[in-house]
Amino acid sequence: MIKNSFQIRRLQAIVHQVNAFEKEMASLSDAALQAKTKEFKERLAEGESLDELLPEAYAAVREADRRVLGMFPYEVQVMGAVVLHQGNVAEMATGEGKTLTATMPLYLNALTGQGALLVTTNSYLALRDAEEMGRVYRFLGLSIETAVLADESKELTPERKREIYQADIVYTTNSALGFDYLIENLADTKASQYLRPFHYVIIDEIDSILLDSAQTPLIISGAPRVQSNFYGIMDTFVTTLKEGEDYKYDDEKNEVWMTLKGIRAAESFLDLQHLFAKENQEIVRHLNLALRAHKLYKKDKDYVVREGGKEAEVVLLDRSTGRLLEMTRLQGGQHQAIEAKEGVSLTQETRAMASITYQNLFKLFRKIAGMTGTGKVVEREFMETYSMAVIKIPTNRKVIRQDLPDQLYQTLPEKVFASLDEVKHYHAKGNPLLIFTGSVEMSEIYSSLLLREGIAHNLLNANNAAREAQIIAESGQKGAVTVATSMAGRGTDIKLGAGVAELGGLVVIGTERIENQRIDLQIRGRSGRQGDPGISKFFVSLEDDLLKKWGPDWLKTFYRDYSVDEVQLQPTQLRGRRFRSLAAKAQRASESAAKLSRQLTLDFAQSMKIQRQLTYAERDRLIQAEERIDQEIEQVLSQVIHQAAYERSYASRADLYRYILDHFSYHAERISYDFDLYSPEKIEQLLLGIAREELQAKKDYLRSDKLFTDFQRICVLKAIDENWIEQVDYLQQLKTALSGQHFSMKNPLVEYYQEAYDGFEYMKERMKQQMVKNLLMSELALNPKGEVITYFP
Ligand code: ADP
Repeated sequence: MIKNSFQIRRLQAIVHQVNAFEKEMASLSDAALQAKTKEFKERLAEGESLDELLPEAYAAVREADRRVLGMFPYEVQVMGAVVLHQGNVAEMATGEGKTLTATMPLYLNALTGQGALLVTTNSYLALRDAEEMGRVYRFLGLSIETAVLADESKELTPERKREIYQADIVYTTNSALGFDYLIENLADTKASQYLRPFHYVIIDEIDSILLDSAQTPLIISGAPRVQSNFYGIMDTFVTTLKEGEDYKYDDEKNEVWMTLKGIRAAESFLDLQHLFAKENQEIVRHLNLALRAHKLYKKDKDYVVREGGKEAEVVLLDRSTGRLLEMTRLQGGQHQAIEAKEGVSLTQETRAMASITYQNLFKLFRKIAGMTGTGKVVEREFMETYSMAVIKIPTNRKVIRQDLPDQLYQTLPEKVFASLDEVKHYHAKGNPLLIFTGSVEMSEIYSSLLLREGIAHNLLNANNAAREAQIIAESGQKGAVTVATSMAGRGTDIKLGAGVAELGGLVVIGTERIENQRIDLQIRGRSGRQGDPGISKFFVSLEDDLLKKWGPDWLKTFYRDYSVDEVQLQPTQLRGRRFRSLAAKAQRASESAAKLSRQLTLDFAQSMKIQRQLTYAERDRLIQAEERIDQEIEQVLSQVIHQAAYERSYASRADLYRYILDHFSYHAERISYDFDLYSPEKIEQLLLGIAREELQAKKDYLRSDKLFTDFQRICVLKAIDENWIEQVDYLQQLKTALSGQHFSMKNPLVEYYQEAYDGFEYMKERMKQQMVKNLLMSELALNPKGEVITYFP
């Protein structure tokens, strides 16, 4: 707070400037207020800066918010809005009205005409907020669109997307934006491009999107790859291994690796001489995948096996939300290895065609801003990775919620019963209760216990954001009991029902502390909004995952054996100094590990990022380059031919002829007897002549410069795309292979960079060769509409 006070004072000074325009704006007619937009744009064009316009523009939006929505942004919201304009993270508690806050910076930054985006975590929120806030932008004469559909099975056409992204303000989700970006960069022509250069974005729940989703890049999958039959074999083999002997497992680092004994066992099981011989690479890869499937991926925590439907299938779970990740699959064969473990039929392994992490996606924007209820605890990471400051905005009203100290128990059952007693206590009084669990499994256990107690309740298993939001919104009614996984209904406002404030407000019970302090804060923040009374309390046991995994070493000796009938029905709380900050310390340990692992992901992604930028820039240049494409092609052609002449040697005339038939032309004449095979100059001349002839023949056939240019572009793009897709797939595989590698002493990251770089250089060579081959050896035809049909070699 103290560190912030200087920043807050500066923000307050700007708020005063905004306030100074309040009366003037209020006195304007609707038409005069609306005319402000045009005026601001003109002043911008005349050289005024956005910073200079800010006080007046914010005052105009505030007035419009009042007229259109009946809500006048509080001063603290204006402060948040200034932070957002400055490209930083505004930490605003739940219920402080982040949705309304965003109207000011979105409007201001959209005045430039270059577009302003608001990104949320799910399409329900994007649609809801766009609909509500959209009225304000339209009132002020700006256009607004939503780039997601309520029906997620439907898709927007490229034409529609272009319209959408042309709008001044666009609401969308992080994944929709990411996929649009990737898909656009698979487009062939200008006509199927729709994004504008990325200008300004506000990311709602920025910590969730940039940090928690850091480990799962967006991937577009394409052509199937040949299915391997190693999955089943390796799965069987792995079940014969003993932990600690044949392989080791480090739960802190979440890593498994084979011991020498295990390696010998594999060699005898598979009848191999050397497991690590080059020809056994695929086997080793599948062995790693199977081992990871068994030790690192837990059923009902990391994934569920969904029966019903046609066939059982493995669906991933978001650990913290319990949400099913329907469209997401683990890459590099990990998904199939889990399927083998669960005995469900294997799905097709597909190639990754394009991929990007959220960090790299958002770094494409000239300015990023973010809002969250919980940014302060990861302030340093935001600064280090994104150069964004996190500024805590004071609440509009004083928070009077009581955050009670944790209650700690030795065993899980003790904890569960103690928390249940607490629930019964408040339920009898009539307080609404919101019970948060760390996993879907636990939420079901609580639900059945409540049922046994005869307490009616809602159970949220995070499957339908809209329904969830509705239930959460009603969870503040008298007597309501709601059981939910931690992130369910995030971002939904909970208003207290009649008479609830008098009872002390909404009671939030956390049934465990999970690996990340920010989620605890989110959970507490469901209660006590806008000065409401409320209570929050967490129940913790030494057997919780958090403590088992991240607790201090002395805990391990402290766990005492107990059997089910020994379970104390009278739970005893553990008290005393050594226990007090146990959970918080464990959380810190877990968080710094998570931060490290995000850093590693970033490092891995860096190499792909550079390659992607180069490749996409090249693609873009070629799509745009109508006139210059001849020159580009000329260059590539002479390079490839030069290499073929100077860097290859030909054993015989037949050999050279074969090479020409494979790479340059089907129509070349045989090589004459007196041709000097040892003269690179001669070979270069010969090849150039052949190339010119082939190109001329195609030009003659098409009889139109436009068609010929189209043909050239398609040939070039096809070569880029095919090779780039190979490369993306290769990088994915490489990453999985290297991150599962503990046998070698090398640093996996260094090795990855080296291999990735080499791979890229090699890809560029292949790409050029393929361009030439496509250009020279394609067969052309015209369809009845007069369009070129190209049959690639
Ligand atoms: P957050 O996302 O910050 O938790 P919301 O944007 O969901 O909060 O807003 C919480 C509630 O407060 C909503 O019902 C909203 O309509 C209301 N609200 C926000 N700002 C104001 C305001 N200035 N005046 C009146 N109501 C407001």
